[in-house]
Amino acid sequence: MRAVLASANPGKLRELRHALPDWEIEPLEADDYPPETGETYYDNARAKALFGREREAGRWVLGEDSGLEVEGLDGAPGIKSARFAGGMHVERLLAELEGVEGEARGARYVCELVALSPEGEEHRGTGILEGRIAEQPSGSEGFGFDPVFIPDGEERTAAELGNAWKAGNSHRARAARALAEALP
Ligand code: IMP
Repeated sequence: MRAVLASANPGKLRELRHALPDWEIEPLEADDYPPETGETYYDNARAKALFGREREAGRWVLGEDSGLEVEGLDGAPGIKSARFAGGMHVERLLAELEGVEGEARGARYVCELVALSPEGEEHRGTGILEGRIAEQPSGSEGFGFDPVFIPDGEERTAAELGNAWKAGNSHRARAARALAEALP
């Protein structure tokens, strides 16, 4: 199955290629993605897929939206994760959690995937990865908040566990598996 991913994020592309080995996924070449104005991950994922479909009629298109929700920040940054402090997101998150301990450091990654068939049929998959926010960053793989995200059952951050671990276990990999199961 050949598909276009409506995202400019190379980390997402890498993880989805690993998680959907039967798919040949190419990134959509676009520098004018619409702003993420939806109220849910699903809204944004669908908007990206529809944007991709306008550009790539006749192909399968994937739209993805994801975010990090932190207990002690009432679920923030959540759907606004991509806009959280620009490139300083890890530093800002650690600063906001300074002095915060225990369950309030609990967090989850959420990923929503929407696939539109060439005929416009919609399929979706959701994936969640529970974990907690570390006291300090470590590790160099993955992207975004991975240097401070420790998945449940692990002692190391997602950035230390690495791309191969994420390919099988991340919220994105889980959403991809759910999507694959939802396909006809
Ligand atoms: P968007 O889905 O492009 O709007 O942005 C998702 C944002 O959520 C990223 O820019 C990261 O800040 C965060 N995020 C989502 N998934 C991951 C992940 O797998 N690792 C680290 N950060 C993530």
